[in-house]
Amino acid sequence: MSSPAFRDLLPPFPEPPLTIAVSECLTGAPVRYDGGHRASAWPRPALEGLYEVRPICPEVGIGLGVPRPPIRLVGAPASPRAVGVEDPSVDVSDRLRAYAGTRLPDLDDVDGYVFKARSPSCGLKGVALHADPQGPPVPEGTGLFAAEIASARPALPLEDGENLFEPGALESFVTRTFVHAFWRRTTAGGIDAARLIAFHSACKYLVMAHDASAYRRLGRLLADLSGNAETTGERYFEGLMRALAARPTRSSHTNVLQHLQGYLRGAIGAPDRRAVAAAIERYRNGEAALETPLHDLRWGLQKAGARYAFDQYYLHVPRVGPQAGATVPAGTAPRTAAS
Ligand code: SF4
Repeated sequence: MSSPAFRDLLPPFPEPPLTIAVSECLTGAPVRYDGGHRASAWPRPALEGLYEVRPICPEVGIGLGVPRPPIRLVGAPASPRAVGVEDPSVDVSDRLRAYAGTRLPDLDDVDGYVFKARSPSCGLKGVALHADPQGPPVPEGTGLFAAEIASARPALPLEDGENLFEPGALESFVTRTFVHAFWRRTTAGGIDAARLIAFHSACKYLVMAHDASAYRRLGRLLADLSGNAETTGERYFEGLMRALAARPTRSSHTNVLQHLQGYLRGAIGAPDRRAVAAAIERYRNGEAALETPLHDLRWGLQKAGARYAFDQYYLHVPRVGPQAGATVPAGTAPRTAAS
């Protein structure tokens, strides 16, 4: 089988640990308004070994003490303000927004950001917003610091820590951070058309697992690279990050695994192909973790010399959570394969 050499144009896949920014109270630091922390508000143990964290507390950063009077969001959803709960004349909105700008350089070498959910400074979505100071809040706000970061870094993987307890969200976040790191390495010396297309090829099956239609959509974006590759590349990467934010499912993974299985046809023996097919079927039926067919496919594709398929980042990106399963050393034969 002929193999486009897209992998030769790209750097090695990134190895953990990556660096991510994290709301400081999630790290166990006692920086909350009440002098406490919220280390339990994200599944940090599940991410052990994957990341080094860079803690940031915007409220402490703008000079508010610990403990301090709490703040809340008030006003219209499009232009909320952060004011004191007890003394609404205390308004720290402008300071929080300006502080975000001062921290942007610290995000140049990070590959993700985990925020403390529902904070008027750090929450990404669903923060209590008091449109009517006398009425009940509506969960339609975004923390003022987080909103500035999201606006300034549209391609940076961001997530509220509490969302990461949901396995699909956790998998999506981890994947996005590693793709982000891969992109930073790929484009460190600038973006050119050949590496852009190579990067897109490497991410093909990863994208398909998250959003089946996005691969074609993103490919159309790259169809004409006669203009400014830098500008097209930035648009492409923002679109890629949006696609990978969609949660993969057992069904979408099965579809991708079966596509990759097709590269084994005629390239390895029937008993080995049956073993890989059985592993995919066990995963499809919920009887095996995703790592089981991934491991068997890596083994089979390497044996088959199917380089285009073996070099897909889908097969190598780190995976977490109970569905992912333990990593099996590369090169180990399928557990049910004939040898
Ligand atoms: S939510 Fe944000 S501002 Fe509040 S204590 Fe945590 S890091 Fe600081």
